Amino acid sequence: LPDEFVQALPVLQTITQAGFEAYFVGGSVRDALLGKKIHDVDIATSAYPAEIKQIFRRTIDTGIQHGTVTVMQQETAYEVTTFRTESGYQDFRRPDHVTFVRSLREDLKRRDFTINALALQHDGTIIDLFAGLTDLENKVIRAVGDPNERFHEDALRMMRAVRFESQLGFTIEANTEVAIRAQHQLLSKIAVERIHDEFVKLMLGQARYNGLVSFVQTELYQQCPDFTNAGPAFKALLKLPTTPLRSEAAVWLLIAQQLQLDSEQVKPFLRHWKSANDLIHAVSTSLPVLQKFLAQQPLSNWDFYQAGLTNVLTANQIAYFYGADVAETTLQSKYQQLPIKQRSELAVNGGDLLQALALKPGPKLGQLLAHLERAVVAAQIPNQKAALIAAATKL
Ligand code: ATP
Ligand code: MG
Repeated sequence: LPDEFVQALPVLQTITQAGFEAYFVGGSVRDALLGKKIHDVDIATSAYPAEIKQIFRRTIDTGIQHGTVTVMQQETAYEVTTFRTESGYQDFRRPDHVTFVRSLREDLKRRDFTINALALQHDGTIIDLFAGLTDLENKVIRAVGDPNERFHEDALRMMRAVRFESQLGFTIEANTEVAIRAQHQLLSKIAVERIHDEFVKLMLGQARYNGLVSFVQTELYQQCPDFTNAGPAFKALLKLPTTPLRSEAAVWLLIAQQLQLDSEQVKPFLRHWKSANDLIHAVSTSLPVLQKFLAQQPLSNWDFYQAGLTNVLTANQIAYFYGADVAETTLQSKYQQLPIKQRSELAVNGGDLLQALALKPGPKLGQLLAHLERAVVAAQIPNQKAALIAAATKL
């Protein structure tokens, strides 16, 4: 057993000693069997939430109505979820009802893919009721049960399928893929935030090419914000290098470039995708830098200063896809050589100028500071107080 499971074993044992069943389930079991690093260890149990709270001293009500209680075990938090079935799904997303049950089989049956429906017992025995081990071995993503029904219940599962294809380098089983193609329109019922997270995971996966091929072929892309006419852009993307992307900003910069968005269009586009403000800022700042790389124009000191090193490096990573990147070390040393990296490093501030030039506060002051900032960044004036005041006097 990997360390993460060994550390969590006392939780399973405590539940078992109280007379209930408990297993490790979900992504951690799958990833452990694949020899991948596991993140959160999820535990499923036949005990009801109230029973879990009686068994453990320190618990947090995380999602009691869904059956999840967080159990603290030596400063590590474990999510313990009661076996449950789901029903309803009137809106093609979350179930209307969850019912707590005592049967592991019922709980595994509601899970999306066979590779995600394995349970691991305290003694290391794998419980495999849906031939998930064979699919894991053959690198196959197969819906548990009838794929049409399963995607009808929860349309996000279709995005999860293409995401796992990219993350794990697996192939979607034929009937499962046919069902996605047939039902792709149901994805429009799913909240954009949830589609966003799956799409980013797809783009950051090691087998992005394969995930994207399915994303395009199944037409899932058509149900995503502003992608309705993006078919040709995605097909062109498939011809670019398959090098893994290193950050979420790189993902969206590549997409923005493929869609030929300019720095104004990129903001509403990312807002439609419900991206975070700092991501929107990073991408809209990197895009003009990328366009300079693509046009083989040198970056000025001001470009480096304004964009910051991280955004310049992101732009350079994407420039690589178009054969227009430069050595990272060159960019790093150019950035390091900037006279200042931010306005606070300027050797004069507003107060200094007011005093030296006997000015009154007002817009003039801001203009002077902005002018000095540009001149210092461009190395036209040394960043020294006397020199800056002398220069300001002449402006
Ligand atoms: P990750 O590595 O991204 O965490 P994961 O498989 O653990 O992958 P989670 O979203 O953490 O994904 O879900 C944990 C488990 O819950 C899954 O392995 C699967 O068994 C089940 N599950 C999650 N989402 C769904 C869904 N939409 N439909 C059915 N089962 C799901
Ligand atoms: Mg998980």
